[in-house]
Amino acid sequence: MYNAKSLKAEEFISDEEIKETLAYADANRENFELIDSIIEKAREKKGLSHREASVLLACEDEEKIKQIYELAEQIKKDYYGNRIVLFAPLYLSNYCVNGCVYCPYHMKNKHIARKKLTQEDIVREVTALQDMGHKRLAIEAGEDSVNNPIEYILESIKTIYSIKHKNGAIRRVNVNIAATTVENYRKLKDAGIGTYILFQETYHKESYEKLHPTGPKHDYAYHTEAMDRAMEGGIDDVGLGVLFGLEMYRYEFAGLLMHAEHLEAVHGVGPHTISVPRVKHADDIDPAAFDNGISDDIFAKICALIRISVPYTGMIISTRESQTVRERVLPLGVSQISGASRTSVGGYAEPETPDEVTSAQFDVSDNRTLDEVVNWLMKLGYIPSFCTACYREGRTGDRFMALCKNMQILNCCHPNALMTLKEYLEDYASEETRRIGMALIDRELENIPNPKVKQKAYECIHDIEGGQRDFRF
Ligand code: SF4
Ligand code: SF4
Repeated sequence: MYNAKSLKAEEFISDEEIKETLAYADANRENFELIDSIIEKAREKKGLSHREASVLLACEDEEKIKQIYELAEQIKKDYYGNRIVLFAPLYLSNYCVNGCVYCPYHMKNKHIARKKLTQEDIVREVTALQDMGHKRLAIEAGEDSVNNPIEYILESIKTIYSIKHKNGAIRRVNVNIAATTVENYRKLKDAGIGTYILFQETYHKESYEKLHPTGPKHDYAYHTEAMDRAMEGGIDDVGLGVLFGLEMYRYEFAGLLMHAEHLEAVHGVGPHTISVPRVKHADDIDPAAFDNGISDDIFAKICALIRISVPYTGMIISTRESQTVRERVLPLGVSQISGASRTSVGGYAEPETPDEVTSAQFDVSDNRTLDEVVNWLMKLGYIPSFCTACYREGRTGDRFMALCKNMQILNCCHPNALMTLKEYLEDYASEETRRIGMALIDRELENIPNPKVKQKAYECIHDIEGGQRDFRF
């Protein structure tokens, strides 16, 4: 029985409810009266239910899709403005005891290079990341209680935060590790992490069990209920995601929104972020082996619909996607992207050569440098942001959501984007990027509506030029 408030996976992600939702969406895919009323509701910018959003996903009318895209773009501007936050993944270890059939780190893969960073390796990696200009990382590790116990993750986080190379610093570490216990989540919270990210991969229980034939991740309920345990452990910013391509995308989309509704219903705080990865080629993995791959058009539609369904949630696109695809979905609601990512273990300090046995989790489709990505974003009219202010100012969980839902977070995001971009330009940018960035900052400072904030931002930018760092609203 479907119950958004239940703590049981099979009740808050009810298979029956998803199937009924999909049948309802099919029955109404050309019900333009209903579709118009749902789009009207979305214009209130308070979100949509999984049923409403699923009807829009089923609708194939070009005019309606155009309206959805325009609305997604507007909502993105109203909530987040034109800033795009940048981050990089940092792979700590690819030892893993699970058998996920879509990931080359699965235990049976004997030809991938298995690596685990020592604390000294981490210093090298983070120094390289700081030298690129990164301030925000997402750490990744396979599930392996012997090679990657929680103590290793905690020690690594401590090491990462401690490294201060030149003007560099990692100011926010998000964590993407396997589902774990409340006690371990509490330890992660105490270590000062930003968001805890865990992809569901698929919400379809039967497929989930087939795709995860062995290892602790096989347990659908334990995995699906992980965010509730994370919140019980005090982590109030959690990041959801499914791996599109594994199951029918309409099923996943409904499940994803139901998960968001569940978090909101039980904890009063929806997901901080939603990621939308698609299955990509990797060592041992051929995306064609999965029947449910989605086209770029469907992918764009999903992004736009997530934006209008959960306006308060950040949306992340990684370098799994090409420059072209990223460019297409940026205006549809994406708020965060990775840049210059290496998906191999130790790949920042020592990039792998083509003839080396790889340790990478997937092939990167966007191989540009961070400077190229920053430059590109600015040319597209965005402000590249290295902001990490919220959790450092205690704006997490419901405090963050209250500001975000009132569309006030923009008052912090915008000046913080300018100040952190200024730091980037001073410390790491190429000459051309610096020139474009300085002009952009001058223009955008004038767009700060509050005179006091504008004055303060001017002063901070001036002080950054004078050598000071780390200002925030
Ligand atoms: S997806 Fe995660 S748990 Fe599964 S094999 Fe890869 S690293 Fe391990
Ligand atoms: S102010 Fe908060 S929400 Fe805005 S970019 Fe910075 S950390 Fe993100």
